[in-house]
Amino acid sequence: MQASYDQLLERISRASGLAREEIERKIEAKRAKLSGLVSKEGAAQIVAAELGINFEKQKSKINELEGAKRANITGKIIKLFPVREYKKENREGKIGSMIVADETASVRVVLWDANHIKLIENGELKEGDVIEINNGNIRNSEVQLSGFADIKISSEKLENVKTERSFSEKKLADIKPGDAVRLRAFVVQAFEPRFFDVCPECSGRAVADAEGSVCEKHGRVVPQKRALLNVVLDDGTENMRAVLFSEQIDSVGFSVQENFVLEREKILGREMAFSGTVRQNKFFNNQELFISSVEDLNLDNLISELEKANSIQQ
Ligand SMILES: [Zn+2]
Repeated sequence: MQASYDQLLERISRASGLAREEIERKIEAKRAKLSGLVSKEGAAQIVAAELGINFEKQKSKINELEGAKRANITGKIIKLFPVREYKKENREGKIGSMIVADETASVRVVLWDANHIKLIENGELKEGDVIEINNGNIRNSEVQLSGFADIKISSEKLENVKTERSFSEKKLADIKPGDAVRLRAFVVQAFEPRFFDVCPECSGRAVADAEGSVCEKHGRVVPQKRALLNVVLDDGTENMRAVLFSEQIDSVGFSVQENFVLEREKILGREMAFSGTVRQNKFFNNQELFISSVEDLNLDNLISELEKANSIQQ
């Protein structure tokens, strides 16, 4: 996702020490020179580059992290979780995590490096401390700290920090119809997949009749089979029915062709990050989450993603 024009202005101003008005003048001049062929955002990026600003190395506010790859932030530790140990096949280690907030938003920070984790274990990092993080990686809307990241106590004073999460992450207990949300939840129940026919041209419903299938818009068609899988998600605040369609069913590793009971074992009890929209099911008078994408939060995947990110950095 692109940062908004206003956020870009703010960041360029902060990094260059120039007033916003002056930067806007430079951006307008740049656009005029390029005959208006670039957007305001595009021109802002060019001006930033000409001023020698590298956003990857710039400090950001926490509400500016969405869509970025790298995180350099200063924030207050508002929640420190106990260090956890994990053992997975040939890997084992510890994970530390905390919620860090500045005046714009808060974000979860996950620590993987033994030296960083020692800072928590030794009590050198405590709730209420203001810390500076550099070179964090952003994954799954969290800041992940590998051994290439730095974390240290900052001398900055932060008084009014925002404690709500950014990235429109919500808990199941708080969502309402129409919300577009991303949330972490466990799959606690799964029902037998159901199949239906869609029009190959518009993916709309294809209705079977005596001679075959008919699409409302495209008339007689040779339909494609699609599957849907109903599951129940639980994030600790509430449980809710959710619907996954073909691509999302594939992405959780569930095969609709295989034995249902065995396939169900693969997904029950797994924690994943689900994105989707909340709809009111009028028939059952309850809410359902229509899933549009799923990210596995499996530790091994997270670790290998992190390793990939680090090898690119090196
Ligand atoms: Zn159609």
